[in-house]
Amino acid sequence: MQQSSSVTSVFAQPYSVYGSLEQAFAQQSAATVSRIYESHEEQTVAFFLIKGNKEGPTVWIQAALHGDEHDGIITCARILADISPEQLRGNLILCPVTNPTAMLAGTNASPLDGINLNRVFGQNANSDSYSGRFGRWLADKILAHTHFLIDLHGGGRWLDVCPFAMVAGDHEGAFHDSLAALRQVPLTATYICQSGTKGMLINEVCQKGIPAVLLENGGGNRWTDTAVHMHLYAVRMILDQLGVYSSGLAPQAEAILHANHSPARITEIAEIRFETSGILTFSRQAGENVRQGEELMRILSYPGLEEKSIACPVEHGVILSIHAASTVHKDGYAVMLGKLA
Ligand SMILES: [Zn+2]
Repeated sequence: MQQSSSVTSVFAQPYSVYGSLEQAFAQQSAATVSRIYESHEEQTVAFFLIKGNKEGPTVWIQAALHGDEHDGIITCARILADISPEQLRGNLILCPVTNPTAMLAGTNASPLDGINLNRVFGQNANSDSYSGRFGRWLADKILAHTHFLIDLHGGGRWLDVCPFAMVAGDHEGAFHDSLAALRQVPLTATYICQSGTKGMLINEVCQKGIPAVLLENGGGNRWTDTAVHMHLYAVRMILDQLGVYSSGLAPQAEAILHANHSPARITEIAEIRFETSGILTFSRQAGENVRQGEELMRILSYPGLEEKSIACPVEHGVILSIHAASTVHKDGYAVMLGKLA
């Protein structure tokens, strides 16, 4: 098992407890940490406010917007355990479990409606669904308190992802500030998401002029030290770049040392879904570059028991995320390719 799991005991420290972020901002002393519980439609969301000693921006760091992506939760614990509020210029809001009903169910989306919480903004906004209303509630909180959003993701139960970032292109200033903040973060690729394409939270936040980055890495049925270290390193580098917190720490994980420091700039992606159910018998790796016609995956179909190949449909691409579990469902997500020049 993992060695650092006891780090999550930091969440239960005897911090001051507040009933809202507003109350914590108004009453909490400088250079302290508090825990905040807020409720939305009978679901409780826990936040931590780390108040710095000096004036500065508030950075919102959240994890598990998709309930089966756990590496970011442990990353939040590590941030809480490592940080010295006295050295912080500004504030951090941590939301370790952004989508509690999904996390408790172990699924990407909330079991209350099965809707992807990262597809409920912009053109997809809809107050008829639980996730639509919850997303609005969450976004309003972020917009009210935040100068920079870091949204930690991973592959989840079914997918592996390479270390890549998504940045919203909705607002010129916020877009450039987001890219600048990623300058020291080792990434395979940076995907520029244009307005309204998906209804993602980063687009919603960026449209209001607040820089926002979504960080992907990891994947599979359980969190790993490697993915946690990658997330932690990325957060540290962003906070350093923003002048909020300088940890002065060297890279930890082996993976970081080998990571690409000049990420490919992606503006177009190709997404492929499975045409058959069955068992995955071969697949390429997240982060690999592929050429048109190369085999990406092979599936043993059922009940046909035929081998079906999925080939790269674009001239040149990088595998941003790829299905990694043996079980394959018809119409399930197979691969996301970033198009390379
Ligand atoms: Zn995700």
